[in-house]
Formats: sequence, C-alpha cells, structure tokens
Amino acid sequence: MAVLKQRTLKSLTHAVGVGLHSGQRVEITLRPAAPDTGIVFRRIDLPQVVDIPVSAEAVTDTRMASTLSRGSARVLTVEHLMSACSGLGVDNLYVDITAEEIPILDGSAASFVFLLQSAGIEMQNAPRRFIRLTQPVQVSEGEGDNRKWACLAPYHGYKLSFEIDFKHPAVDSTGQHVEFDMGSGSYARDIARARTFGFTKDVEMMRANGLALGGGLDNAIVMDDYKVLNFDGLRYDDEFVKHKILDAMGDLYLVGKPLLASYSAFRSGHALNNKLLRELLAHPDCWDVVTFEDVKRAPAGFAQLAPAW
Ligand SMILES: [Zn+2]
Repeated sequence: MAVLKQRTLKSLTHAVGVGLHSGQRVEITLRPAAPDTGIVFRRIDLPQVVDIPVSAEAVTDTRMASTLSRGSARVLTVEHLMSACSGLGVDNLYVDITAEEIPILDGSAASFVFLLQSAGIEMQNAPRRFIRLTQPVQVSEGEGDNRKWACLAPYHGYKLSFEIDFKHPAVDSTGQHVEFDMGSGSYARDIARARTFGFTKDVEMMRANGLALGGGLDNAIVMDDYKVLNFDGLRYDDEFVKHKILDAMGDLYLVGKPLLASYSAFRSGHALNNKLLRELLAHPDCWDVVTFEDVKRAPAGFAQLAPAW
C-alpha cells in the first residue's frame, strides 16, 4: 500500500513584485522544506531573520488582507500564495521575503501556481495529515441585511461553497454563488485565475489608511459606481465570487493542515474566515487528525494530486 505523502518543492523559485497595500518592492523566494515543517514565512530583510510559521493564532490583522505576525515582525497579504499551496497540495515550504508584504503579482493566485509548478512538486517520506471535521462548526456576524456567516461541516474531501451580495450593478450581473470541489474541479483552471477586486469610491479611504498603495488595473478588477474599468473585462463570468473561494482556501490553509470538510459561506471575508478557524480549534471535539495509509482510500482530488510535471 502507498501512503498519501506530504509534498514540497523540487527546487527553489524566485519572483519580484510590489505589495498591494504597502506598494513596496519585494523579492520572494520559495524553497523546499523538510517534512512537518509546514509553511514558514521568513523576513530576511530584518537585522535578524525572523521565521513566521503559519497558524490561525498568528493572524493579527484581517483588514482587506490576512496578516501574520511574530513579535514585531509581520507579513501582509499571505492569502493568495496560501491559496495556491492549498490548491496544489504543498505542505512544506519556506517563503523568504525582503519586505513585509507578499507581492500581489497579477492579483490572483495564477502567478503563484506557475511559480510552484515551475519549481516542480516533490513527494516526501512522511504521511500527509488532515484535519477531518466530525461535527459542524459555524460563526456569524451582524443581523438582518448585514448578516454574514461561515461554516465547516463533515465531508469526505474538500469542497467550498460561497455566496456574495455586494449590491453593485457590475457585481450583481455576474454569478453570485459558486461551489468548487477539489474532487471534481481543477484549482489551477477553475479558481486560481480569479483576481482581487475593488471599488474606486473606496480607494481614497483605503489610501488614507495606508492600504491599496500598490493596487491598480494590472493587479485588480477595479469598478466605479456602475461598471468594470479594466479594458479586458473579466477572466471568468463569475470572477468575483470565485476570488472569494480563492481567498477562503488561502485563509483556511493558515490552520496549518489541509481540511477534510465542506466549507460554506455567505458574505464571509478574511476576518470571519479566521474566526471560523479559531472556533474550530476551540472545539477539538468537532475534528480529529487523520492520515491515509492507503492512498486509494483518500478522497478524490487528494489521491489524484500528481506531481506537477
Ligand atoms: Zn484576495
């Protein structure tokens, strides 16, 4: 019997870009890591290198993006890279960065998928450990029209269902609900290319708060009060809600292990997704940790994750 194994990169890979919120130039290097390392962000620009391993508790700011901290060292906007790692099943990785924000690149996870696949993905000699939901866990915020919620429920596999409600003509004319199942869909094809989005009316307020300084039409879908301003339009008919799935996959992977669960959410975001992880960790009676000694018994989408090349 073949055990379902952990995965890392075959070789290192490198990119340069700017941070969406900070506008800072940043170099990023993705490097292979030993089994059970997890995903570790490393601030190599600080006088002493600081390692920031991912965990739900390390998330310290969820305004517009997910930020991890360790002491005074931070790393902003980790969710799109984390989403690519979740979608490609990468368990162990060092992410060396020369500034405090992961580069936004094209605003989606497609560039990270390309980087990871170019480096190649390697099986490691250790079983992959999953957090398997055994009871549902749910969180919500707000009342009436402002209500948002997110839920994890038992499922043999990993699937995500998301509904948005922005009350904006350009968004409302697209698909408002999407479901993605790792067992039947392709992350790289169906989800990874969906870009982040924003509204021109919010940009002034965001910039006054030091956010979106690196944002623009080449790394986001930008809308005025009526329409999409990007010359080329949308990449998917339902690109907005697909980006919310992309973000949720990144936010949820911060728990440090892949989930065996069905995630469903209505108007959730980085803050509520992190609250959901904390609720999960606070209820150890709702999940256990499992491995698959026989890869044939693993759910579809995990067993079939072949090496990327
Ligand atoms: Zn995003």
